[in-house]
Amino acid sequence: MAAGKAAEAGAQVTLLEKTERLGKKLGITGKGRCNLTNTIDVKGFIENFPGNGHFLYGALYRFGNKELMSFFRTLGVDLKVERGMRVFPTSDTSKDILDALKDYIHSNSVNVSYLTRAKEIIVKDGAVKGVVTYDGRIFYGEAVILATGGSSYPGTGSTGDGYEIARQIGHTITPLRPSLVPLECEEDWVELVNGLSLKNVTLSVFYEDKLIDSEFGEMLFTNFGVSGPIVLTLSEKVSLILQNSISSVKLIINLKPALTPEELDARLQRDFTLFANRQFKNALDRLLPQSFIPVFLCLSQIPTDKKVNQITKEERRKLVTLLQGIPLTVKKARPLREAIVTAGGVSTQEINPKTMESRLVRGLFFAGEVIDIHGNTGGYNLQAAFSTGYLGGVNSAEYSLFSH
Ligand SMILES: Cc1cc2nc3c(=O)[nH]c(=O)nc-3n(C[C@H](O)[C@H](O)[C@H](O)COP(=O)(O)OP(=O)(O)OC[C@H]3O[C@@H](n4cnc5c(N)ncnc54)[C@H](O)[C@@H]3O)c2cc1C
Repeated sequence: MAAGKAAEAGAQVTLLEKTERLGKKLGITGKGRCNLTNTIDVKGFIENFPGNGHFLYGALYRFGNKELMSFFRTLGVDLKVERGMRVFPTSDTSKDILDALKDYIHSNSVNVSYLTRAKEIIVKDGAVKGVVTYDGRIFYGEAVILATGGSSYPGTGSTGDGYEIARQIGHTITPLRPSLVPLECEEDWVELVNGLSLKNVTLSVFYEDKLIDSEFGEMLFTNFGVSGPIVLTLSEKVSLILQNSISSVKLIINLKPALTPEELDARLQRDFTLFANRQFKNALDRLLPQSFIPVFLCLSQIPTDKKVNQITKEERRKLVTLLQGIPLTVKKARPLREAIVTAGGVSTQEINPKTMESRLVRGLFFAGEVIDIHGNTGGYNLQAAFSTGYLGGVNSAEYSLFSH
């Protein structure tokens, strides 16, 4: 976006790409479907950015979701809106978004230099002069847009190079940490339900017995702990707590959030009347996913072969509590390389939010995840990358044309 917009505005642009292909990460977004934005209003957008949302006001007003959607539609990509106001290409393939962007830069004569890894930015008298690559080449230019992405999924090319490049020329890099990341749990039983997805549950985060946040929706068990949409969303707060604390973080899964404890107890009573002569282990089919039943039996501490009609009122009450409060203990967040987004990055204090230009170096612009911004899942992060890319592109073109 940045390269294309700069070229469209009249600059002669060279795009340096470290890998042999453009947009490797874009290709895997949204499970290969690319959730490119969200139709929420600007205020909603900002609220979905736990990391420096306010910094994005200018960019989102100038080139927000409507402008982005019409940009892609003009390039011939049909878009659709799904649950949660998430926007995807109608074809359900991220390749269409990527191809449209490639066509866009090629039709604006952007020169792409593949397998070209930027190492440092040359600065003279407080202004950008060009870029030095790892293989010793120098690309001269009056403006440089640093859009090297974050530090996660390094296989896509986003290995965090931009942080070092920016640091070398005086920019502050706020501490990096994983955001939107799966969580490792202490309980061994999670392995037994590896792959099980729970829908319509509420997950709550507790720290030192205080409720920090909760989310309703879908989560997933993995061989090490938990993942899935609501876990990723809550992981932002969890990773922040874990960074500054040695106490553990507790998670509580409410498997039946739509019912009050009394309603759930009545529901249990109905099931237990129906299955009065069964063993306890055979009485939960209507209540829980099959693969979760052995775990639930174990956590309940009620003998699995106990006859249902012998279960006491006290035991039933405990079952209600358990159904609405499966406890988990977070060991740690998975590493940065497995995060969907990197929190932290080039300090927003040092970037002009109206232009994306550095406040320290003339002609230096930033775009995307390399900036200290991070949003929730739902198309927010890509929109932020496109919006900041737009501003960086348009404003960098005001400098003289690149020469090399
Ligand atoms: C699995 C996964 C799914 C995701 N799904 C979504 C989603 O559906 N919706 C959403 O909004 N967000 C999603 N995200 C987040 C989103 O992909 C990123 O926030 C976004 O791609 C950031 O864009 P960017 O242009 O800043 O960086 P990137 O997309 O990371 O691109 C950076 C580019 O810079 C290149 N580069 C890096 N260093 C150098 C160097 N030294 N020299 C030259 N080139 C270099 C890289 O090779 C890469 O091509 C997802 C992320 C992941 C990991």
